[in-house]
Amino acid sequence: MLQSTLATKTSKENPKDEHALNAQLLVRAGYVDKVLAGVYAYLPLGTIVLRKIEQIVREEMDRVGGQEIFMSSLHPKENWIATGRWESLDALFKLTSRYDNEYALGATHEEEVVPLMGKFIRSYRDLPFAVYQIQTKFRDEPRAKSGLLRGREFRMKDMYSFHTNTTDLDTYYSRVIEAYRAVFSRLGLDAILTEASGGSFSKLSHEFQVVTETGEDTIFYCKQCDKAVNKEISDRGLCMTCGAVGAPLRASEVGNIFKLGTKYTDPFDCSFTDEHGASVRAVMGCYGIGTSRLMGTIAEVTADEKGLAWPESVAPFSVHLLALPGKKADIAATIMTRVRSLYDQLTAKGNAVLFDDRDVSAGEKFADSDLLGVPLRAVVSEKTLASNSVEVKERKSSDARLVTIDQFLSR
Ligand code: ATP
Ligand code: MG
Repeated sequence: MLQSTLATKTSKENPKDEHALNAQLLVRAGYVDKVLAGVYAYLPLGTIVLRKIEQIVREEMDRVGGQEIFMSSLHPKENWIATGRWESLDALFKLTSRYDNEYALGATHEEEVVPLMGKFIRSYRDLPFAVYQIQTKFRDEPRAKSGLLRGREFRMKDMYSFHTNTTDLDTYYSRVIEAYRAVFSRLGLDAILTEASGGSFSKLSHEFQVVTETGEDTIFYCKQCDKAVNKEISDRGLCMTCGAVGAPLRASEVGNIFKLGTKYTDPFDCSFTDEHGASVRAVMGCYGIGTSRLMGTIAEVTADEKGLAWPESVAPFSVHLLALPGKKADIAATIMTRVRSLYDQLTAKGNAVLFDDRDVSAGEKFADSDLLGVPLRAVVSEKTLASNSVEVKERKSSDARLVTIDQFLSR
């Protein structure tokens, strides 16, 4: 893509109303913009990053047999009355239509997925299965100060599994833990498996926590066992495996998984007929990943004082090509011809390249490149022209090196 045609611009100043690093950088770099507290619009670059994150999540959910669906955001009030959460879930957005009908805006989807999939569950032979979606969620969060880490409108992958018994649920739950590890590792994140309360059916649930100062949780991490417990359940911070005292760390919960048992299949009478002809309630698990929170978390943990620094797997482009034509007209023309041809060849090979073809100073190009955080920067200037090379620098490194154009293209 030609940078001169990009619909957004970078800004040098931090937005006044953003306190979290992820939001400051993402807004300055033009990836997202704030609509109101806890609500963001995704601009072209931000949309690419979010899509890439969600595609990785999608691939790993498909790999554990998840079947993708897409449910509604507008929910009937009756379903939420049935589970008691119309009253008990404080963060639920409720709305009344001009015809006096009442609805909930989807904060989570147990109230929709259980009656929906229950229509297809008759016999034990119909189980197990898992369905998931990647969708916008709405929650009237009391505080929304952490940028993309806590939104009132945000993106989530939510998967729901249905089983005949708890043994089968346990087996699938373990497989999903491995799938989550694969997701976070592909995203370049070190996510710590953390025990937490809140399993409505089992005593514990599990969270995946990424250590960052902006995170809203405190976990006690046991290095020995590479496991943690959430402070909300364990004030003393003892490792549940070896009993040692863990180190307190601030962290962001990027995913969590619960064994729900029959908590939601009971109110909707979601049952199947077992081998002996008896009617039995289906047993459920649910598995969330905050995809927009992930974008904020990745931004937060990879950034440095100059700006963003995306891992290759989610970066909006893999190469940022900078043309520095300089002031001498004939040399400038040669440089621009050389860079345009390099850009064409790189894109023809299937590379996602951002080409800074703008008529701005070299300083501005370098500063914007650091802010935007594309993993590899390649500069063509008068200096590189003579040796028919490009000056290449990884965003995370401080060393630039000259590489011949042929070598660069063959990599
Ligand atoms: P938290 O403890 O952070 O409030 P939660 O335990 O309520 O989240 P779930 O309802 O299980 O989370 O949602 C699944 C995932 O969605 C979470 O692990 C998190 O990554 C993400 N998530 C939850 N709430 C928000 C939010 N307000 N903004 C962005 N992401 C969120
Ligand atoms: Mg939580």
